[in-house]
Amino acid sequence: MLINKVTRFQIRKLENNVTLNALNTTLKMKNCIIASTSTLYGGDYLDYILPELSEHFKNCKTILFIPYAQPSGISYEEYTNKVAAAFDNINIVVKGIHEFESPKAAIDQAEGIFTGGGNTFLLVFQLYKNNVMDALANAIKNGTPYLGTSAGSNICGLTIQTTNDMPIIYPPNFQTLGIIPFNLNPHYLDADLQLKHNGETRETRIKEYHQFNTVPVLGLREGSWLEVKGEKITLKGSLSARLFRQNKNPEEIASGSDLSDLK
Ligand code: ASP
Repeated sequence: MLINKVTRFQIRKLENNVTLNALNTTLKMKNCIIASTSTLYGGDYLDYILPELSEHFKNCKTILFIPYAQPSGISYEEYTNKVAAAFDNINIVVKGIHEFESPKAAIDQAEGIFTGGGNTFLLVFQLYKNNVMDALANAIKNGTPYLGTSAGSNICGLTIQTTNDMPIIYPPNFQTLGIIPFNLNPHYLDADLQLKHNGETRETRIKEYHQFNTVPVLGLREGSWLEVKGEKITLKGSLSARLFRQNKNPEEIASGSDLSDLK
């Protein structure tokens, strides 16, 4: 009799847990800010987007920072300190992934994650070297709030083939997180027809990419970002973005547009 009671109690507990888990799984949805840049001309690091970040990371006391892209070759410590100073304005503590013994465990346990800009090839090289590309994708897909700027945004696309960066190091693969089903070109710049300069424009380079690839490319101007909530992708910020598709004329996309069907 007593055994029966205990068993019934255990079963009910188990059922409750299963229901809770199911609920969690349903609620687990991507929650990302994928930004063109960290800093606007004349502004301070992240200051233009801090109000958004305060809301985005509202349930986080601490976030994990991934400094692997090392802009201008600065150390992980220097980079993390810079990020920590910015997040201090919204009362969030920043820990660098290099401070943890296991980078994978750091990602698995993070309340929120930020990957900063720098060199995209170096970032991807390090993500593969530390064996955390899958862990990062899983954390984001399971709802850990994520912020990417520049290189940290490039990796949210399918591949890094449309970065502006030089391939200073050889990553094992160009494939990245696939959080959004297209590629980005951050810091997107329109051609300046007054410039007496003969190098390729961004538009030309992306056209070259489309000689061999069908994946759409979104040119994200500085101050723009994508908000990803579950499967919904929205263009944010005050500027339009430029969309490039294979065999189609480029298109201006207004801020506020829904890009969820772009693939
Ligand atoms: N170097 C850029 C950054 O992370 C990325 C890019 O332009 O593709 O700031």
